[in-house]
Amino acid sequence: MSVLRPDDTAPSVHDVDYEGLWDNGFRGVIFDLDNTLCPWHEDGLEPEVVDLLAKLQRRGFRVLVLSNGRLRRRRHLLGQFRELQVPVMWPAGKPCIRGFRRALATMELAALQVVMVGDQVFTDVLGANRVGMAVVLVSPVGPREQFLTRILRRLERCVGRV
Ligand SMILES: [Mg+2]
Repeated sequence: MSVLRPDDTAPSVHDVDYEGLWDNGFRGVIFDLDNTLCPWHEDGLEPEVVDLLAKLQRRGFRVLVLSNGRLRRRRHLLGQFRELQVPVMWPAGKPCIRGFRRALATMELAALQVVMVGDQVFTDVLGANRVGMAVVLVSPVGPREQFLTRILRRLERCVGRV
């Protein structure tokens, strides 16, 4: 099923070829949060992740976080994104396209100029493909997952992650 296929895969957000994406006309990066930028439910970003987001912004990319999580209590994390001036949209309801469209409107970019980076096939990959956005599937950073996610992982194994 092509809507479940990412355009590329990478071990982590640090391994994505952002320079290559820039050269191919991409100007925005939408990141999933849990198990992509940080372990599930963690209230904070590792310094290397903060550095990466800042580096992408300096390069000229517009960066945004689109999460299906409930983030109200994760104050430290939200503060880090505020300091970076990275908009965070939650709960996004991925794979519904509404959140993706709102993200594109906020970034003032077209779907073809933006790449989604996330760890889940049925939310990140499916949603991005539905709006015509390129998508890179990364390996989940943490072992802990929400109950629903664990069910979706089983389905991912059925369809194959790539
Ligand atoms: Mg995730």
